[in-house]
Amino acid sequence: MIKQLLQGPNPSAQTDYHRLQVILTIAPLAASVHFLLIPFFYFSGVEILAALNCVSVLLWIYGIRLSKQYRIDLAIQIFCSEVLLHSLVVSYYLGPDPGFQYYLWSMSALAVMDTSNSRFRVFVTAIMLVLVFALLNAGVFSPVLAFPFTEYIFYMKLVNMVVSGVLSILAIMIMREFHLRQQAELKQLADIDCLTGVFNRRQGGVLLEQACQMALRKKHPLTVVMADIDRFKQINDRYGHAVGDSVLCQIADLLQNSIRKSDALIRWGGEEFLILLPDATDLDAQQLLGKINPRIEQLYSANDIPEAPVTLSFGVAQWHTAEPVEQTIMRADNALYVSKQEGRSRITLADKMGCDDQPLSSFQNGG
Ligand code: GH3
Ligand code: MG
Ligand code: MG
Repeated sequence: MIKQLLQGPNPSAQTDYHRLQVILTIAPLAASVHFLLIPFFYFSGVEILAALNCVSVLLWIYGIRLSKQYRIDLAIQIFCSEVLLHSLVVSYYLGPDPGFQYYLWSMSALAVMDTSNSRFRVFVTAIMLVLVFALLNAGVFSPVLAFPFTEYIFYMKLVNMVVSGVLSILAIMIMREFHLRQQAELKQLADIDCLTGVFNRRQGGVLLEQACQMALRKKHPLTVVMADIDRFKQINDRYGHAVGDSVLCQIADLLQNSIRKSDALIRWGGEEFLILLPDATDLDAQQLLGKINPRIEQLYSANDIPEAPVTLSFGVAQWHTAEPVEQTIMRADNALYVSKQEGRSRITLADKMGCDDQPLSSFQNGG
């Protein structure tokens, strides 16, 4: 695990975007804190530290500019150097009591986001920052200057501890959000067909398994429908692939809107869809499908789609609990084949054609 962490893959453009968001949240805050410290130190009579904070503000602003140009690693290195320099100088002059060394903690978390160096190097850099923190905090420097408002030093330490902690929390929360969003996107990519937005075949297999288990448990029927667009090749050939794609999407939408929430629509192949109908018999499916082709005809006359009629052929099979579900799909596929043979734009029920191996029941538009 540690070896993997130290030698992981190179970052993507998306990682750069995530790091930029972290920097754009934290860096303006850090620059503002340094800006407020300029008058504070100046009026406390510690001009050297007021000047140091002027340099710090400039470095943070420069780092933000670099980050916006996606020179993020250089920006992180500048931020780390600034925090290191700042805590060393402040500790040298005022000792550990004001608590400026706590920013080294937050910075050690930001340092590991430098992806231009190997994991091992950034790990060592972060450890080094933590070690410097430990030494400064232990009081290796006794204060050179006497800070005039000693009664405020306790509160300064408190503020520095809280602000540095909040900066770390913010950085981790932003990365957490990105992590969760990426996980959801990956799940979407793995389960959903990117053209039509319905489930893909891989997820279809998972849903089929689940539907069978649910049907067994609840003792409900389960029906699968194989649907295929008729003469789809002609649409592609006549109007081009882009129109073909748009027809595919519109038909997927129409099918999705025609089924219940508990049903599932899966793009099984190119222009072939599998519909899972839990708690429905093949006769229920037949009734539902009968309404679909007239709706497609309406869709295309409304959209002025070509003279070629767009219709679907269907093969319907109800799951028999004794058979593997793959066999049910095969029966639905055979029924679909019969619909095609019989002239398309039809619904064929597998169980009605099984008796004598002839299609006994083909229904034009479900009629
Ligand atoms: P049938 O009525 O017998 O089903 O005829 P068909 O033309 O629909 O079937 P065929 O299998 O001959 O052709 C299917 C066509 O679907 C061929 C293929 O180029 C097209 N196709 C498959 N996937 C896509 C896709 O994602 N987009 C587009 N535009 N076309 C696709
Ligand atoms: Mg087809
Ligand atoms: Mg096909």
